[in-house]
Amino acid sequence: MLDTIAQQPQLDFSLRCLMPEFRSVETERKFQLYHLERSKTSLRTTLVFCSFFYVAFALTDIGVLGYTRVTLILLLGRILVAVTAIGGLLLVRIRPDSIAACQIAATAAELVGMVTFMLIVYHRPTEIPWHAMSMCIMLIVVYIFIPNRLINSLAIAFTTTASFIVIVVGIGTLKRADMLTMSMLLLLTNSFGLVAARRYQRVWREEYKVQSLLTQLTVQDPLTGCYNRRHLNEFLLTAELARSRRHGLSFAVILCDIDHFKAINDTHGHLCGDTVLRSFASVLRTLTRQRIDSVVRYGGEEFLLLLPQTKLSGAEALAERLRRSFAEATIDYAGQQISATASFGVLAVAVAGENEDISEESIIAAADKLLYQAKQAGRNNVQCADLATV
Ligand code: GH3
Ligand code: MG
Ligand code: MG
Repeated sequence: MLDTIAQQPQLDFSLRCLMPEFRSVETERKFQLYHLERSKTSLRTTLVFCSFFYVAFALTDIGVLGYTRVTLILLLGRILVAVTAIGGLLLVRIRPDSIAACQIAATAAELVGMVTFMLIVYHRPTEIPWHAMSMCIMLIVVYIFIPNRLINSLAIAFTTTASFIVIVVGIGTLKRADMLTMSMLLLLTNSFGLVAARRYQRVWREEYKVQSLLTQLTVQDPLTGCYNRRHLNEFLLTAELARSRRHGLSFAVILCDIDHFKAINDTHGHLCGDTVLRSFASVLRTLTRQRIDSVVRYGGEEFLLLLPQTKLSGAEALAERLRRSFAEATIDYAGQQISATASFGVLAVAVAGENEDISEESIIAAADKLLYQAKQAGRNNVQCADLATV
């Protein structure tokens, strides 16, 4: 997922002030996807563990209430918690790539667990201090152990804390001072749970930000924002060849080079040369398909375009559009209007039949040969061929 970062618009990594979430919906979604496996593991462990204890604690109902109808109702409630948890985990299994499935499973288990707990408190009014202790543990589980949006955890924790206090007041057996102590302790647990959850959810996002930026640095050319040659060699070309082989597809490569670039540097200075490079890269990126085509800075003023599922005619038309756009553009540098041209070698690669075991080197060499022909033809020129004919 992080492979496609370099040529995407820069992600906004700023965090919201109160809630530990990225301001940008897109960044938050990408983070959630990146974090999904960790969330699922944490959800699985916590729900299985909690379900086991929820059902096992039915023994305490029997101890307090004996074998009564209420004990049976509470047992059914406890089983419902386990069933909800298992149902949630099944949903996550059926929809393994869904962020929503994970959040639905977490919220449903939290809600059913808390409602059942209120039922237990109501039917076992003689053990309020024990219930308060259990409530504190459950709050920590909701805030910290069950992965959910903090806003959901907060709503469930506060609503159930308030309901618990109302039920205890309704039961009316606790002295006023004890009631106050219990309420303060619950408030304290909510506060600590909230602060801890907020803190580690922010830390995860900070970690994602650093990870994303580091990945970006390893695949991106800093001057133009295009992919670098290393990423082409280590990933892009190999992946495209493998994909085309698997599906019997063809793809195209365009190798292009700015004409007389040395003269631009010599006449207007290196910084002006850099501006021209950025402008050329911008033309290449603007006119190619976002998230499908890859634009690579291959060398100094040489770029390589990798165009999946593209035939020679399509690649030739694109190269012609790129050539014309760049030649017609005027680049503003320190008040001067600079113009430049580029030459293009367009190669179509059909990975089938005789071409089955072509190498990456032979593709680059063939595209380079076409680029050389374009330079020989007077520059500001496009030369095209199928790999088989080069
Ligand atoms: P041709 O039309 O045959 O391509 O000639 P050219 O002058 O474009 O090619 P040549 O290979 O002679 O010169 C390329 C120049 O690009 C030389 C090098 O100093 C310059 N260059 C390479 N990388 C950068 C860079 O990052 N910034 C700038 N400003 N110049 C660069
Ligand atoms: Mg050049
Ligand atoms: Mg060159």
